[in-house]
Amino acid sequence: MSHAVLSPSSASRWLACTPSARLETQFPDKAGDFAKEGSLAHEFGELRLKRYSGLIDELEWTKKTSELVKDRLYSESLEEYAAGYANFVWEKFLLAQRTTSDAVLRIEERINLTAYVPEGFGTGDAVILADGTLEIIDLKYGKGVQVSAIDNKQMMLYALGALDMFGFMYAIHTVRMTIYQPRLDNISEWEMSVEELTTWGMNELAPRAKMAYTGDGSFVPGKHCQFCRAKAQCRTLAEKNLEAAKHEFEDASLLSDAEISEILLQVDLIKNWVTSVEEYALEAALDGKKFSGFKLVEGRSIRKYVDEKQVADRLVENGYKESAIYEPAKLKTITAMEKLVTKKAFTALLGDLVIKPQGKPTLAPESDKRQEWNSAENDFKNV
Ligand code: SF4
Repeated sequence: MSHAVLSPSSASRWLACTPSARLETQFPDKAGDFAKEGSLAHEFGELRLKRYSGLIDELEWTKKTSELVKDRLYSESLEEYAAGYANFVWEKFLLAQRTTSDAVLRIEERINLTAYVPEGFGTGDAVILADGTLEIIDLKYGKGVQVSAIDNKQMMLYALGALDMFGFMYAIHTVRMTIYQPRLDNISEWEMSVEELTTWGMNELAPRAKMAYTGDGSFVPGKHCQFCRAKAQCRTLAEKNLEAAKHEFEDASLLSDAEISEILLQVDLIKNWVTSVEEYALEAALDGKKFSGFKLVEGRSIRKYVDEKQVADRLVENGYKESAIYEPAKLKTITAMEKLVTKKAFTALLGDLVIKPQGKPTLAPESDKRQEWNSAENDFKNV
């Protein structure tokens, strides 16, 4: 699949840091298994929606799903999550048909963004066109980061592109953007008026996209650096992080509480950056690069049996009891078990046998959505 220089999925980054998009083209896109798993879930969702819409018949559906099932990343739970997404979209489409009999559902539609973004295009997972409201639904299969639809630049781009391509067919005044992220039970919706969206498109998106396309503007570090392909070598990010690390503290031997708060605010970003620098340097060293003061050495490893059966046989022959040499059978983890039996069956079968103990206290920024920790013990201490 070809990628636009200004891809919608990285829009929040190149809008904030316009030269990042050009800089990123110097680095390979290492789409790992997580991205491939996401693509597989999208393919299942697309097929199911095409079957619901009558775009493919039963024979084709069976043939294509049996091909997808052979993928090494396939699991029943992946298929179930994708089915949940397809049913969600289909219900929304049926709802739209109630008000607009000729409502249209577009599945995995290539969306042209060139009215705002040079050479811009993307793929809209599901677009529902009806009178009044245009809906964009995006399946996010990942579970690493909870994605919100609110002020989501990727969704806003898709919505603008879809309006540009199909808006003339219906009297649309509102755009509804929905993120469907099944593995985190996250459904996030956001609405904007067409007027508000197109004003943003013309006044903010288009000029910033033009700068990003030519690589102009200043490097601006921030949260958006997290998935930037250039982050391990980006000078601006390094300067920002190192500056934070050598922060001028008050002239005293011990840090004040306010200073510790300042450090804590930077910790995640700095940790994340340090890890990416380490990963980059290791990869480059394996490719033959020499970093002054460093050398490649063999990492720690642990001993392992060459053949477990042979080990057991030899021990039994030498008088050791099987009960002594084997560990008792162990249940799979909850995540692995959910993958095995599917989430739905897991909840039905084992819902009453799973508890979620109280987590350990952890420091989080004030903006964190979780409730403030308030154990009985703490209440007691504060009396
Ligand atoms: S790491 Fe951050 S500051 Fe550097 S180019 Fe990427 S987005 Fe911009």
